[in-house]
Amino acid sequence: MKKFELPELNYAYDALEPVIDARTMEIHHTKHNQAYVTNLNAALEKHPELEYESLCGLLRDINNVPSDIRQAVINNGGGAHNHKLFWKVMAPVGTTELKGDLKDAIDNAFGSYEKFVEEFSNAAKTRFGSGWAWLVLNADKQLKVMSTANQDSPLMEGFFPLLGLDVWEHAYYLNYQNRRPDYVTEWFKVINWDYVAERFEKGLTK
Ligand code: MN
Repeated sequence: MKKFELPELNYAYDALEPVIDARTMEIHHTKHNQAYVTNLNAALEKHPELEYESLCGLLRDINNVPSDIRQAVINNGGGAHNHKLFWKVMAPVGTTELKGDLKDAIDNAFGSYEKFVEEFSNAAKTRFGSGWAWLVLNADKQLKVMSTANQDSPLMEGFFPLLGLDVWEHAYYLNYQNRRPDYVTEWFKVINWDYVAERFEKGLTK
């Protein structure tokens, strides 16, 4: 059985300030993310016969997961994968910019960067309760904005996630309290466009 581990961040907890404060980052990473990883491993231990090559593969083929642990894998495997991506799609303010093929593709799909921001923000702000907003590639390699509830992964619906925004209260409550719209607006400043562009290239060639 493959054991999953807490991913390392390639920046310090305070690196995303003032958009996301260090305390929120530390609790989010060491407590919330760790809990998803721990609970995922605990669920998988019940079925050592289950074969999978990666967390991605496990989520893509979620119906192959035995029914008694399927919801635990949806919640905690989804949580583990979503957060692994979340840390990577962020970088300190002003260190990357949207350019090249991904910029062209966003312009083509949404009309402009501003229109994309509007659609993505709307998905993030209107997701009721806990969940995520996403920029994904669909099966036809087209860019789409969507949202999912809880820790549901877009992989389970056949989408390839490029960019994900965590809108659970644990992601912003210390700094923004109930003001999710302010968190969403600020968050665009810490998107790591270099990494999202890498995901885009990977998704197109898969
Ligand atoms: Mn989270």
